[in-house]
Amino acid sequence: MSLPNDIKPSTIAAQAAGAVDLPSGGVVPPVQPSTTFLRDESYALINPDNIYSRDNSDIVRIAETVLARLERAEEALLFPSGMAAIAALFRTLPNGASIVVQSGIYWGTVKWLRDFSARRGMALHEVDAADPTALEQACIDHTPSMVLVETPSNPWLKTVDIAHAAECAHKAGAVLAVDSTAATPVLQQPLELGADIVMHSATKAINGHSDVLAGALATRAPAAQIWTDIKADRHDAGAVIGPFEAWLLLRGMRTLPLRVERMSASAMKIAEYLAAHDWVEDVLYPGLPSHPGHDISARQMSGGFGSLMSFLVKGGGAEALAVVGRLNLFHRATSLGGVESLVEHRHTIEPHTGIPENLIRLSVGIEDAGDLIADLKQALG
Ligand SMILES: *Cc1c(COP(=O)(O)O)cnc(C)c1O
Repeated sequence: MSLPNDIKPSTIAAQAAGAVDLPSGGVVPPVQPSTTFLRDESYALINPDNIYSRDNSDIVRIAETVLARLERAEEALLFPSGMAAIAALFRTLPNGASIVVQSGIYWGTVKWLRDFSARRGMALHEVDAADPTALEQACIDHTPSMVLVETPSNPWLKTVDIAHAAECAHKAGAVLAVDSTAATPVLQQPLELGADIVMHSATKAINGHSDVLAGALATRAPAAQIWTDIKADRHDAGAVIGPFEAWLLLRGMRTLPLRVERMSASAMKIAEYLAAHDWVEDVLYPGLPSHPGHDISARQMSGGFGSLMSFLVKGGGAEALAVVGRLNLFHRATSLGGVESLVEHRHTIEPHTGIPENLIRLSVGIEDAGDLIADLKQALG
C-alpha cells in the first residue's frame, strides 16, 4: 500500500510506511521464517526478490523502509546489533587507514575500535568532538578517511555540531558517520545536516521495549562505494537480523514518535527537578539552558532532547550507589530508551574510563513523570 509522500513521522511509524498483508488481508505484515525460497518448473524464482534469507527477507525490508523514511534517508540497513552495524561500517576501511573518533563515547564502541584498529594497523585518533576547534584540527592533522561522532553522547551527554563536523570531515576527504542512538530518528536527522551515514543501536528507543537486539545504518547516497561495500559485507559476512527480531522491531517502531515525545517531556521535567536539588552537584542534559551544548542541540534537534541524562550527586561513589539502591521505580540495569526507566552507576561498570564515581545515568521511560520525580525525591533523601 503506498502512502502519500508528505505524511509526518508519527503517521509513517503508526502505519509501518503502508505495510499490510494483502494475501490475507491482515493489517499487520506476517513473519516469514523460511530461509530459502521456491523456484518454478522453468527454474525462475516465484518471487524474484527472495532467494535466501541471508540477504532477502520481506519483513526486514519493511522495517528498513520505515526506518529510512523516519531518518529521511534513501536506504537503511538493519543488523543484529548496534555493534554489528558499527563493525560493518569500519570493516570497509583498508588496513592502515586513519580514523578520527569522538572521545568519551559509548564504551563498547571505543573498546572494539581500539582492538580493531590495533589489529588492522589503523591510526585511531580520539578527540573531544564537542570542541569544534579540536575536531577541525584533528581532521587537518590526521587526514582521516572516517570520522565518527556520537551526539548526544553516552554517558556524558556531550553535543557535537553535526553540520560543522560534516564540513571538517569532508574537507579532509573523510566520511562522517553519526551515532544518533540517544537522539533517535524522531528528534534528529544527521543526514539532513550533512552526515554521510547515520548509525543507531535499534536495541534502544527504536525498538523501545528492551526485548530486541538490533542495529541500523542509513544513508542518502546508496550508490557510494562505502555503502555498496557495507551491503556486500552484510550479505557475505552474514551479520543479518532474523525475521522475528525484525517483526518485533517493526511493531515497536509504530509507537516510536509517541514514546520519544513522552520520554523527552518527562526527561526535561526530571532534569529541571534534579538541577534545583540541594544534593545534586550537576545535571548533564542538553535540554537545560546551562548545558554547554544547549544552543547546538536546540538548533539540530527538534521535539525534545531525548530520554538519556546523567547527574552528579554531592559526595562520592558510596553516596551515588546509596541513591541508586534506594530507587524503587527505576530499574537498576544497563541500556536505555525502553518504556521502563533505568538507572545505572557507570563507574561500577567501567571503572577505568574516567567516569566520575558520583555520576548516575538515567534513561527516562514513559511512566508518569510525577511518579518518577517522587521516586528520585525519596532516593535523594
Ligand atoms: C547500546 C549502544 C551501542 C551498541 O549497540 P548494541 O545494540 O548494544 O550492540 C552503540 N552506541 C550507543 C550510543 C549505544 O547506546
